[in-house]
Amino acid sequence: MTSPSAVSTVDARDSGDSAGAAVRGASGVRLLNVFVLILALALGVLGVLLPTRRPEGFTAGLAAGVVLAFVVVAAGQLARLRFRVGRGAVSVSWGEAAFILGFSLAPPGWLPLVTLAGVAGAWFLITWLNDQRAVGDVVHLAASLSLGASGATAVAYAIAGPGARVGETRTQIALIAGATVYLLITFGLAVLTLALHRDASPGQIAVRALHAKLPMFVGNVLVGLSTVYVLLHGPQWLVAMPAVLWLLQRAYRHHLRAEEERRIWEAFARATRTLGGVTEAVVAAAGLRGALDVFGARRVEIDVAGERRYVADATQEPMPGSMPGPVITRAMTVGGTRVGDLTVWLAEPAMPGAQDELAVSAYADALAAALHDAAANERLALLDTQVAYEGVHDPLTGLANRAALLADGDEMLKSLDRDRPVAVMLLDLNNFRDVNGTLGYKAGDAVLRTVADRLSGLAREREIVARLGDDEFAVLLPTVVTLADSATPVREPLPQVVRRAREFIEAVSEPIDIDGVRLVTEVAVGVVVETAGCAELGELIRRASVALDQAKELNVAVAAYDSTRDATSTDHLSLPAELLDALTADDQLVLALQPEVDLETGAPTGVEALIRWHHPRRGLLTPDSFVRTAENGGLLGPFTRYVLDRALSAAAGWAAAGLDVPVSVNVSSRSLIDPTFPSQVSEALRRHRIVPDRLVLEVTESLAVSGSGVVDEVLAGLREIGVQISVDDFGTGYSSLAFVTRVTIDELKVDRSFVQEMADSPIAEAIVRGAVELGARLGARVVAEGVETADQRAALLALGCTSAQGYHFSRPLPADKIVVALRQMADAAPAKVVPLRADGAS
Ligand code: C2E
Ligand code: CA
Ligand code: CA
Repeated sequence: MTSPSAVSTVDARDSGDSAGAAVRGASGVRLLNVFVLILALALGVLGVLLPTRRPEGFTAGLAAGVVLAFVVVAAGQLARLRFRVGRGAVSVSWGEAAFILGFSLAPPGWLPLVTLAGVAGAWFLITWLNDQRAVGDVVHLAASLSLGASGATAVAYAIAGPGARVGETRTQIALIAGATVYLLITFGLAVLTLALHRDASPGQIAVRALHAKLPMFVGNVLVGLSTVYVLLHGPQWLVAMPAVLWLLQRAYRHHLRAEEERRIWEAFARATRTLGGVTEAVVAAAGLRGALDVFGARRVEIDVAGERRYVADATQEPMPGSMPGPVITRAMTVGGTRVGDLTVWLAEPAMPGAQDELAVSAYADALAAALHDAAANERLALLDTQVAYEGVHDPLTGLANRAALLADGDEMLKSLDRDRPVAVMLLDLNNFRDVNGTLGYKAGDAVLRTVADRLSGLAREREIVARLGDDEFAVLLPTVVTLADSATPVREPLPQVVRRAREFIEAVSEPIDIDGVRLVTEVAVGVVVETAGCAELGELIRRASVALDQAKELNVAVAAYDSTRDATSTDHLSLPAELLDALTADDQLVLALQPEVDLETGAPTGVEALIRWHHPRRGLLTPDSFVRTAENGGLLGPFTRYVLDRALSAAAGWAAAGLDVPVSVNVSSRSLIDPTFPSQVSEALRRHRIVPDRLVLEVTESLAVSGSGVVDEVLAGLREIGVQISVDDFGTGYSSLAFVTRVTIDELKVDRSFVQEMADSPIAEAIVRGAVELGARLGARVVAEGVETADQRAALLALGCTSAQGYHFSRPLPADKIVVALRQMADAAPAKVVPLRADGAS
């Protein structure tokens, strides 16, 4: 208790004898103080002027009586007891006893002034001893008690009358009544002041303070009366008084302590009930509030794990740098684990001791449990959000998953104008399974993550990118008409979506570097465009997947949903079984044969066998619609054998007719990873007695088989047999260039897309030119596919291309027409000494 501000905050709430707490700040309180002081002074002077007589009994002189009364009043204050009421403290003194004695010793009229002086004297001494300066507080306290004395004196004097004697019952009744009035007035003033200061309900304060004060009041009255008796009848017994007073003092103290303890535990129970909270911050805040209340603390600090500190002060008043008063710090532990520390700066040193420390310890543990619960709660909440996140996200790529796409997407669709065009894109990585198979799952995961990154990188605002399955991604485009386009609304949104799909494809097809291996992922995309109000997202995804299947069937990068295809698309499930039937039916699967010619002369240089399916129900099917089925449905072996047989048998036919033209057979790239393929080929050749080099196998390089050791083995096996190898669709596949430099090839077939775009696209032309040069360097024939016009033929000739195939020369023909057609073409060709085929490196 050294700093002045501490004085103001502690003693401001200190009210002597439950009376007059001198409080600074509140103007209501200040007004009350001034009023009380003026009234006390006025009554004090009036009392001295009135000719009052003390009850007869004591022999001491008047002056001695006044001095004695002064001493008794002062002593009653000095021997005060203080107890805490919340953050404040109330002093209870021996005021009633002092009144009874004073009334008997001095002329009653003097009592108000004596009380004023005695209380002021005692309290000036107390504050001076404590090195405090609180003149205003002391004066107010003295004035309050003096008012109490005035009231008490008036009542007692009225009852006892001027001629009363000390020993009389009436006098004693008068004294008891006076003491009661003294209690009521001082108590009333104290409650009023406390209520004004604290904004707490006066009723609450009154009940609490009265509870503490009443037993003391009874004791005080008894002490007063018995002292008067002893003084009158046996002054020698006064020797026993200190012991009696000491015992009483102890009893009071005990009583007050019990009271305070009860209050603490009540507040404790209240506080701990509010401690539960879902987060540490909430618990800490409740803990601080509770501790301020429970301990009447000036400041409370909660330190969690030495990492986070929560501090609360009782008042907004600036606190001194070093906190005064007793400090109790206790570890907060739960189940033996230290959660942190609780530090409480007690406001009032009146009641320091074991029970405060006990309470702080217990409070710390309650707080620890609550903090522990909150931490568990927070962890649970985190886990919850994590689970929720994982529920809607694909763990590998972090993209939305199917469920999230459906939920968010449908919501978005509902929020859009019904007429607004929306699109769904479904992307499927071709041959992803082979990446996993050849490079391992880690590489597969890396590919998926890269693809996901690229897709999200391209996605615009509000577009949702999701991963639906292994290697299947979806993009929801809720705003097909972009800002740039909005000036001229697009009537036909599909081309725009397809353009967008190509952007995605381009991004995904950029080479991916995985542990030094460059991979190119081929991707097929199915798109569907609908108006927002027309379909649910689930249906849009289904349609996009129909389109995707179509893209794969047609071997194109992008396909748009075509409702006429949809009805039959469910049939594809029955296709494998039907194909199996067809393979044994003999008349369903037939070969169309398309001649390959010398560009300059038009003489036939080869014949390509193209499979057709005369489906009993669906009519004529082109290979695009069923070759994939053959590849996937476990039918590749029988299918390949079937085609080889038919092609070689046709070749045997025209060889028998004297035409030395090789037959070209398309080989599924899957056959290239089948180690038994070479033996199947040689067996077929043997069956049909065909010279191996009269068979050309057209292969396409794709990611699926690239770089696989098996492919190289199979190709080597085929070379050993002596068949020719042709690279089909040159320019479109994966690293065609790398392929042709690794494998000895006899023929390059330039994809028809380049031939057809050559006239308009310099890039296409460059590719054709490059293929021609490459072919020359490798000693391989270069065959231009899909030549439809004389102009294309001329352009190819100008580039130095030697062979071609296409409708311009001949459509694919049925087997029974091919011999005649070949003969005609050979005959029509101007005589030219050219080898029918340019043998590659032997
Ligand atoms: P491909 O090997 O590139 O075959 C050439 C395709 O182009 C054929 O389509 C042919 O009819 C078509 N074509 C020929 N000349 C022209 C032309 O001047 N203009 C246009 N626009 N097209 C022309 P088809 O028969 O539908 O075959 C498609 C694909 O199916 C073939 O492409 C080939 O990759 C595959 N395929 C065909 N038969 C078989 C087979 O027996 N086995 C396997 N595994 N695949 C086959
Ligand atoms: Ca081909
Ligand atoms: Ca081709």
